[in-house]
Amino acid sequence: MTEDSRVLDARYYMPAFGRTMKVVRGAGSRVWDDQGREYIDCVAGIAVCSTGHCHPAVVEAICDQARRLIHCSNLYYVPNQAELAEKLVGITGLSKAFFSNSGAEANEGAIKLARVRTGREKFVAFVHGFHGRTCGSLAVTHKPAIREPFEPLSPACTFVDYGDLDALAEVVDKDTAGVFVEPIQGEAGVLIPPDDFFRGIRDICDDAGALMIVDEVQTGMGRTGKWLAIQHTGVAPDIVTLAKGLASGFPIGALVAREGLEFGKSEHGSTFAGGPLACAAALATIGVIEEVLPDVPAKGERFMKGLSSHNPRGRGLMIGISVGDRCPEVQRICAENGVLVNCAADGNLRLIPPLVITDEEIDTAVGVINAALD
Ligand SMILES: *Cc1c(COP(=O)(O)O)cnc(C)c1O
Repeated sequence: MTEDSRVLDARYYMPAFGRTMKVVRGAGSRVWDDQGREYIDCVAGIAVCSTGHCHPAVVEAICDQARRLIHCSNLYYVPNQAELAEKLVGITGLSKAFFSNSGAEANEGAIKLARVRTGREKFVAFVHGFHGRTCGSLAVTHKPAIREPFEPLSPACTFVDYGDLDALAEVVDKDTAGVFVEPIQGEAGVLIPPDDFFRGIRDICDDAGALMIVDEVQTGMGRTGKWLAIQHTGVAPDIVTLAKGLASGFPIGALVAREGLEFGKSEHGSTFAGGPLACAAALATIGVIEEVLPDVPAKGERFMKGLSSHNPRGRGLMIGISVGDRCPEVQRICAENGVLVNCAADGNLRLIPPLVITDEEIDTAVGVINAALD
């Protein structure tokens, strides 16, 4: 990073992030910093660059749409919007979609939809769960350090231990609008509950008339080897939210809901959401994922096998390793040796590479990560 950018950032940008490196270019599963150093990217913009960096089909779709229409607002039918909604309904097996500009906003929409359709106000979510940083999505996000400075928040939310169905059954009642759950907790560091957890949540929600809202912002769009991680469990949610991997880095989020759950006229909206460029990028992204999705489980297994001496856990290309206090040091050593990895919460090393990562890149990354961990 040039001294100039560092100085400008320190002087003019709010210091909400801790960072040292400047990434200036990407292609496939590689990125380059401003010193010309090359890295295999096992962070992928935090599970965003699902098709790799600057995939030609995505670049082409964005450029092509940009030449015709960049924005027109939701006052009119928007090019690519209904086509993308149809795709997402097909992928999720649900009924109708609504777009947003981010994961947090998708969850905001889910909160509003649950409240307006159930007529109830309260939510239940899980310890270590993450659903975003806007006021509503933060209210259902557990981490006290990021939530408590902003209290009181709305909606009211009760947190129970992830995986604890008895505790869940005790707090979900006739006033509960919805239960927010990640199929695998991502920001927490790739925590995977037993599959029957989700059947249990479904039953508890059905008994109380509460909605089961599955946050697939990080786990969705092929990350775990299926379009949605909840599809590994056979459980059908009421609402699914998506964002990160949906458009290869172009900002977009979505909520998709079952039959009978929809916003009526004027109940929700957004100036930018579901715009022509975002939907073009998402459609192109889905086209690429359709091709690579069958290979994701084997790629994930190759990673897991390579890292097996360090007890990795994961599903598809979403892998976590408990490292503890050494995690930041491991992250630094990996970067020095040309592999980007990321420390999620509680010393959990997280690997969320592009779905297009090659076997050779996996083997190289595994070698560097193993050496850093040893
Ligand atoms: C990242 C994330 C969000 C928030 O998405 P933003 O686009 O950062 O608002 C919500 N839920 C989960 C599970 C996430 O991983």
